[in-house]
Amino acid sequence: MISEKTVKLVTSVPGPKSLEFDAQRRQYISSGVGIAFGIYVAEAKDALIKDVDGNVFIDMAAGFGVQNAGHCDEEVVKAIQIQAARYIHPSFQVTPYPEYIELAKRLCELTPGKFPKKVMFANSGSEAVENAVKIAKRYTGKQGIVSLEAAFHGRTYMAMGLTSKVKPYKNGMGPFPSELYKMPGPYCYRCEFGSTYPECGLACVEKFRTLLKAEWSADNLAAVIAEPVQGEGGFIVPPKDYFTALSKICQENKILLIIDEVQAGFGRTGRMFASENFDLEPDLMTLSKSIAAGVPLSGVVGRAEVMDGVNKGEIGGTYGGSPLACVASLKVIDKMIEQHLPERAVVIGQKLLDKGFEFKEKFDFVGDVRGIGAMVGYEFVKDPVTKEPNEQAVDYIINYCLQKGVLLISAGLFHSVIRFLPPLVITDEQLAYVLKTLEEAMVDYAISDQ
Ligand code: PMP
Repeated sequence: MISEKTVKLVTSVPGPKSLEFDAQRRQYISSGVGIAFGIYVAEAKDALIKDVDGNVFIDMAAGFGVQNAGHCDEEVVKAIQIQAARYIHPSFQVTPYPEYIELAKRLCELTPGKFPKKVMFANSGSEAVENAVKIAKRYTGKQGIVSLEAAFHGRTYMAMGLTSKVKPYKNGMGPFPSELYKMPGPYCYRCEFGSTYPECGLACVEKFRTLLKAEWSADNLAAVIAEPVQGEGGFIVPPKDYFTALSKICQENKILLIIDEVQAGFGRTGRMFASENFDLEPDLMTLSKSIAAGVPLSGVVGRAEVMDGVNKGEIGGTYGGSPLACVASLKVIDKMIEQHLPERAVVIGQKLLDKGFEFKEKFDFVGDVRGIGAMVGYEFVKDPVTKEPNEQAVDYIINYCLQKGVLLISAGLFHSVIRFLPPLVITDEQLAYVLKTLEEAMVDYAISDQ
């Protein structure tokens, strides 16, 4: 059990034991499995990670947005332990169990939209995306899928095809599944139309109308898939009415809208589901990451008639909706609601935004500060006018913060964004330390850059 309340550094970072493990990693683990930090975990609790050398870090990455409810919540751990002693894997598709149903029922009740819904469970975000696409194709009888520039939907083949970043995700991996199309996304800071919201009249959505005339037949499009807030792409928050306009075009053309809430869901954006910020009721929603506090689980929740368009056996898998994950998820949902974690996300996010705006005033290399709830990103540039991406600043600041015990990760099509994904149980004291450390890092970078 970690007894510290905040950062404690007792060795250099990484420490000697971490370095030893890292040497073994290089020997035994494929170099294709990237790691953000060479520090090896001994324990994790709430927003803290203790490494094998005894150093304690504040975790602003949360396992890539998985620990919104905090590492190793007591109730979650207890539920997993009790379940592990009862049964671990009879497989829902051989001998089903009640926890799968119970969780599905809760998700149907909680997700936006009063219409009847159904659920299927899988294991990873990519797998949820694969299944959502299959379900959409089956229901509509159409093949084409449209995704957005700067999107990230995963690393399996269909999900990789839908993803929009060549390196490191797609380079040399073709051919990709066919009938996948891209359109511009709502990246207002780098608007492809050189415009500004709201004067743009949502040019990026209007482009979709043009593409439906110029390039693709709506008769062949099964679905548009979009993240409500783009995650890996750089924490890109669309204008409030973006999804209203996009949904309208989809409805007019009998194209389903799949909203990928894998990263933005589960309290992160100040609402239980990010779609709620946009009054959006998706036809299909993909969920994963913070759904089960780190026990692998993902799901597709959608309109009942759409979810029932697939035939028996066409979707599913050996491990989907494992009992351990279902009981963990039920506890995560209880905790989110009882402890008002989505509301807490707003408070955390505001502090990160306020500080970011201060930085933007002071430092030319902070080009954009944006976010919703506790999904906040700072975008770094070499020049605020040309907006040339500044990867060096991102790496410098991340490394500076690591050395001071704060774990931060990057994002962005141009590797120019630092994204903040703290567990929503981070304390005020811990957050104050993060902000203070960020300030020091910014000043240090400004001096080093002169
Ligand atoms: N969709 C989104 C929006 C994601 O952020 C991610 C993971 N970063 C995925 C899908 C893929 O999830 P996984 O890595 O669990 O396959």
